[in-house]
Amino acid sequence: MINNRKKNFITINEGFICSHCKTKNLSAKKTCRNHCYKCLHSLHVDREIPGDRESECLGLMEPVNIEHNARKGYILTHKCHKCQKVIKNKVAEDDDFEEMMKIVTRNL
Ligand SMILES: [Zn+2]
Ligand SMILES: [Zn+2]
Repeated sequence: MINNRKKNFITINEGFICSHCKTKNLSAKKTCRNHCYKCLHSLHVDREIPGDRESECLGLMEPVNIEHNARKGYILTHKCHKCQKVIKNKVAEDDDFEEMMKIVTRNL
């Protein structure tokens, strides 16, 4: 048995059950899924870098904004309900488009 305790060896592209809408999310094909494809909510598990899983907050992160970046595509901004931290993430290609448009139009 190898005792591997290095934190950055955690696989982050894993399936999960959304704690907001209870939708079962499978792991993403091309990107590391960190938010629900259906309601776009996320959990505050990362502290500084997406995927670091260093945060002990675990608050629900609400999608508050979507912007378009010429290089990266659509960027989703999440805000934590518990600690108010804001984290930006790439949108996955199977994210719910209607839900994305709701956020866009809400911010117009
Ligand atoms: Zn959800
Ligand atoms: Zn938080």
